[in-house]
Amino acid sequence: MGNYQLICPSCKTEFTGYTLSCNCPTLLRTVYNTPLKLKSLPGLWRFLDWLPCEKQLDTKAGSIVYKSLGLAKELGLTNLHLAFTGYWPERNAHNLTGSFKDLESNSTVAWAREKGVNALTIASAGNTARAFAHLANHVEYDAFLFVPESCLEMLWTPEPPTENIHLFAVNGDYLETIETANKFCDTKCVQNEGGAKNVARRDGMGTVMLDAAFTMNRLPTHYFQAIGSGTGAIACWEMATRLQTHGWAGNPTLHLSQNAPFVPIYNAWKANRRQILPEDMPNAERSIKQIHAVVLSNRSPPYSVGGGVYEALSNTQGEMYSVTNKEAKEAGTLFESVEEIDLVPAAEVAVASLIQSVEQNKVLKDDWILLNVTGGGLARLKEDFGFYPIQPEAFIRDPNQNLEDILT
Ligand SMILES: [Zn+2]
Repeated sequence: MGNYQLICPSCKTEFTGYTLSCNCPTLLRTVYNTPLKLKSLPGLWRFLDWLPCEKQLDTKAGSIVYKSLGLAKELGLTNLHLAFTGYWPERNAHNLTGSFKDLESNSTVAWAREKGVNALTIASAGNTARAFAHLANHVEYDAFLFVPESCLEMLWTPEPPTENIHLFAVNGDYLETIETANKFCDTKCVQNEGGAKNVARRDGMGTVMLDAAFTMNRLPTHYFQAIGSGTGAIACWEMATRLQTHGWAGNPTLHLSQNAPFVPIYNAWKANRRQILPEDMPNAERSIKQIHAVVLSNRSPPYSVGGGVYEALSNTQGEMYSVTNKEAKEAGTLFESVEEIDLVPAAEVAVASLIQSVEQNKVLKDDWILLNVTGGGLARLKEDFGFYPIQPEAFIRDPNQNLEDILT
């Protein structure tokens, strides 16, 4: 039975197995029946009570949360906490692909295995595929990975790749890659990992909010993160909501950021719209090529869907930020100099959004702030492990071509 129910919040239908959706336009949710008791396990497995899997994998992936000294001083903040989900062994951060995505790959593969799913198909703009590739190696689990050809350089593993990894490079952007992966799932009958619809992915990412709450001994007042799809932000909002139902006070305001000139969620939110329209992403193809944080490039994020980004922002009186490449890079340089660790570009965008927020007085000096820096420590990771490039099994030149022809 397990410790949870998988439920559609709209029609209240309960599901079993690796289910991604019902017929309602609403994200399914897990409901955990017992209070959260921390376990003596490494990383995100401390929060196993509130993950849909029953057993942990043999990994140490997970966030670390600590009170900032350097950046806090720089910005004049007294209660700034950082959630770091990269690689920093001295601080007990062991995410071996250097990003937030190590959290979702772990909870997802653990859940999938327990539900009898022996392989997954994943579409990714880079970081997610890398996280699943590493785990495929590490726990011998088959992963079929689809990434835009332009993102191939992000596809490496910290150990030599094994035959569990099946990489396909798509000549298209992230949305076309997602569509190609969906077609592959239908053609080859391999389970789709599901992206934002996957509750295990979201609950794995949501452990950042749990880690923060237990470290700060309260819920934060403000939560900062850069978003492409916004799945991590939805996940942290859901976890905060779960903590509230278990007696924790507070409702963290979401402060989410995108990288200009590609800012569809920012534009839709600023126009008070629940729908993203084509006018929210003019010259999308060109804009995506221009952004510093290429992983923040989803043209079809889970924004309008029930329980998605729009509702998460609405329910927390949230704020959206548009961050230029220059602001992001400057924020990254500042962060590295005062916090002594390098960040991935998306995390630099999040730091820049906090700087904007302080300048615009949207946060106050003594507010309890959680800044989720969603990856970093790559310089050190490369030194300690090395980056082994993953070779694609095939290049898919035309997203509309028949996959039977090229996939064995
Ligand atoms: Zn339903």
